[in-house]
Amino acid sequence: MREPVLKLRGISKRFPGVVANDQVDLDVYPGEVHALLGENGAGKTTLMNILYGFYQPDEGQIELSGRPVRIGSPAEAMRLGIGLVPQHPLLVRRHSVAENLALGLPTGWWRPTKPLGKRLHELKQQYRLDVEAGALVEQLSPGEKQRVEIIRALLRGAKILILDEPTSVLTPQEAGELFKVIQRITQSGGAVLFISHRLDEVLEIANRVTVLRKGKAVGSLTPPTDKATLAEMMVGRQVSFERERGMAKRGAPVLEVQKLSVFSDRGLPALRSVSFNLHQGEVLGVAGVAGNGQSELIQVLAGLRKAVSGSVKLDGRDITGKTPRQLHTLGVAHVPEDRIRMGVVPSMSVAQNLALRNYFRPPFSKGLWLDQQELDQNALRQIRQHEIAAPKPGTEARLLSGGNIQKIILARELAGNLKVILAVHPTYGLDVGASEQVHATLLQKTQEGAAVLLVSEDLDEIISLSDCVGVLYAGELVGPVEATSVTREQIGLWMMRGETAFTTIEA
Ligand code: ADP
Ligand code: MG
Repeated sequence: MREPVLKLRGISKRFPGVVANDQVDLDVYPGEVHALLGENGAGKTTLMNILYGFYQPDEGQIELSGRPVRIGSPAEAMRLGIGLVPQHPLLVRRHSVAENLALGLPTGWWRPTKPLGKRLHELKQQYRLDVEAGALVEQLSPGEKQRVEIIRALLRGAKILILDEPTSVLTPQEAGELFKVIQRITQSGGAVLFISHRLDEVLEIANRVTVLRKGKAVGSLTPPTDKATLAEMMVGRQVSFERERGMAKRGAPVLEVQKLSVFSDRGLPALRSVSFNLHQGEVLGVAGVAGNGQSELIQVLAGLRKAVSGSVKLDGRDITGKTPRQLHTLGVAHVPEDRIRMGVVPSMSVAQNLALRNYFRPPFSKGLWLDQQELDQNALRQIRQHEIAAPKPGTEARLLSGGNIQKIILARELAGNLKVILAVHPTYGLDVGASEQVHATLLQKTQEGAAVLLVSEDLDEIISLSDCVGVLYAGELVGPVEATSVTREQIGLWMMRGETAFTTIEA
């Protein structure tokens, strides 16, 4: 039996009011991809920051190749052969790739014997990591920056490479490339600690999975095969993976968008003649890398931005130019992208936020007076019905977690009879359990006859919920097509290159 290259024993770390890591044990073997799986807030990043010397644990021991070590700083971690590719790149934006790679390399009499350029060339060859040394970091895509971070760690001699949620910024194709690089690293004897909250990719890449829940390591699977078991370990209850879409009957077109063109804030074309129909009971997923016109599309449909040309019809009636309030009265709901700025008033109570739409109307307001009792009773009803974790109706919204803020917005915006729901990144930043509830709410609404326009960068979400899928690329809509007729890879290609590239690939 091989010995673990890394052993964590009883690691605990407390922050004010939260135990981020609670007596965590973890063994990592050379040549393996060990996934650390857990919901948002489970303590994954904290554990990795301890391993990389950013934090000191309150309790516990770390052993490297059988020797107890104390990792006082990232520099020490690197000397010990531990490299970290952080969730958000720590590169100097205005420097070139080469300058970033040279930064912090050992200098002085023990300077590495091989010049940087030569070593870089070798690494690029060995792991087939493609980066251009002369490029400025600020001009790189997220995937390219990540490759620079990986090379940087390898240049410093990392034997244990930590990747913190590496796929969150990648397209499926880029993720596939990353997985190949990871395999090359483990094949040459390195160990990879792969942090993720996404089950599918963990099943794909990991030889072993350890699940963290609320700071505790709740178990490991070797090799990981059973998605349902992993999900249950992760969330602490059973999670259903039934195909979610197509539960409602699709009816007549409710929203007809015709040749819609829109300018961005900077006066550039943001949407170019976009046309589609959204049918009753349907979820239409719009995928795409952020900044390809998604925000502008939703803003026009929600009445927050004017179109240059084109028309939008709701049940056959032209609604171009209507205000958000008029649209809401007509049955168009908007679950906004920026929840904190547009979704709730952080300093107001949960009860007030839940009543925000009808604040100055009966039953909440009688003449000039707000009826506090009515506000509170409404809040208590909603808190119960939507399982909002709020101590009391008077709690300020800013004190709630992201998941609970989203539940408040959904409870308020999705009340009543709706025709169209504009849902933008509805589960962004939410954990698996809260996401599942948001999805269930949206699908429930389609069964009541509403149509959902779902804008999301999360392909898993788009694929699992949508009846039809389109991709916005450079302001043009590719599709929509039936979700069953398109693969994840095709959607990924559209996201990167739009339709023209796709058709040439097909041809
Ligand atoms: P994950 O990476 O699994 O999403 P984190 O390790 O980032 O989880 O966070 C675990 C818990 O510790 C969360 O409740 C988070 O709010 C808290 N936490 C993380 N870092 C800090 C910090 N520097 N100060 C206070 N609380 C923190
Ligand atoms: Mg994290």
